[in-house]
Amino acid sequence: MEKEKSIAKQKKEALFSRSKHAGIRMDETALQTCDAFCEGYKAFLDAAKTEREAVNFTVAKLEEAGFRPFTPGMELKAGDRVYVNNRGKAVIMATIGTAPITEGVRLNAAHIDSPRLDLKQHPLYEDNEIALFKTHYYGGIKKYQWTAMPLSLHGMIVRADGSSVEVGIGEDAGDPVFCISDLLPHLAANQMKRTLHEGIKGEELNIIIGSRPFRDDSESELVKLAILDILHEKYGITEDDFISAELEAVPAYQAKDVGFDRSMIGAYGHDDRVCAYTAFMAALECKNPVHTGVTILTDKEETGSDGNTGLCSSYLKYFLYDLAETFGANGRAVISASKCLSADVNAAFDPTFPEVLERNNCAYFNHGVCVTKFTGARGKSGTSDASAEFVGEIRRLLDANDVIWQTGELGKVDMGGGGTVAAYIANLNIDTIDVGVPVLSMHAPYEMVAKTDVYAAYRAFLVFLES
Ligand code: MN
Ligand code: MN
Repeated sequence: MEKEKSIAKQKKEALFSRSKHAGIRMDETALQTCDAFCEGYKAFLDAAKTEREAVNFTVAKLEEAGFRPFTPGMELKAGDRVYVNNRGKAVIMATIGTAPITEGVRLNAAHIDSPRLDLKQHPLYEDNEIALFKTHYYGGIKKYQWTAMPLSLHGMIVRADGSSVEVGIGEDAGDPVFCISDLLPHLAANQMKRTLHEGIKGEELNIIIGSRPFRDDSESELVKLAILDILHEKYGITEDDFISAELEAVPAYQAKDVGFDRSMIGAYGHDDRVCAYTAFMAALECKNPVHTGVTILTDKEETGSDGNTGLCSSYLKYFLYDLAETFGANGRAVISASKCLSADVNAAFDPTFPEVLERNNCAYFNHGVCVTKFTGARGKSGTSDASAEFVGEIRRLLDANDVIWQTGELGKVDMGGGGTVAAYIANLNIDTIDVGVPVLSMHAPYEMVAKTDVYAAYRAFLVFLES
């Protein structure tokens, strides 16, 4: 009896799938390295809350690290580092490998746009001596989550004469912030009967920006006038300049450790800056790759990747063609030989809402970077389904390099789902698989990730570039 049990135990150990908490798998030194890495990530979160700021941040670091702007036809050899800044909203970076370019590139692709509130083109109005901005939300948000919290304003304005000015207000300690009001519970009887979906409606996401009038008794709209007067003084703009502006309201708070044990990070916009930062750090670190390593931080993922800074456009394809031509190679051949990690977040198991996830096939905090064979909704609609061969290759790569990883899909089969840029890259005929960090409260103004998963993502993107 004793012996049989022992065989069963041995067989279990040999045959069963098992996953262990990273906090047990990693030793104290490794955890310290992980926590130190996450300090850099927190600084990035605070410095780069929009796609434009993320590009500014990364381009400055790329220049420091010896990356040069890429021009088609320029001379390139192994170890050279180049980048493309696509309209200040997306960036591609590459380190040339020692292998012929015809063997393809290793591509990590993350996005740097996050759900937010954009200002409309006629945003400014006054209502009963309160000045407000009208907004148009960007990406999939639960609108009720965006009221009664501090907001900051980021972006840029192109003036009538073509000159432009950057706007960033609400982040520094001395800055004012902005806020969307919500109804007091005492008077919310009717509002509380609305569905959660309609609890706050799109046209109720109006940001309060001022309440003190311009000192003059004879005119109307004096609060609006006083605000425009301030804006004219500060930015040299008039009301019509909002028409040619991109102004984005985002949560004004900073990234913080979460938990008594500081094991998690709470912040706005982990989706997908957690994969953008980790992929970017891997790109900086990988100096002498065998295969040319390409990292793309793209825009517009949250609205479907359309537009010339999103991955449905040809800007990635054009870059790869140009790179191929630089070495006298055929662009199509280079693209077809390439491999990609689509670096985007996944849903983490939430103990408070377990019913939407299937426990055998979802991602857990601290169980490592999540490898997702397919995304999409219901019958795999809109999916890019990585082949068993490619999953096998990635699995061997991660295991060989002791990267902590797990597998999981986004929710129960009939529950919903979501897509990433994987499909658009795979559609170019590139082997592509989703790899990313599990997130709690995804798309909320304050999302959470676990630090060990962030570090595991960095290691995954690095070993892939080095493969
Ligand atoms: Mn995402
Ligand atoms: Mn998203």
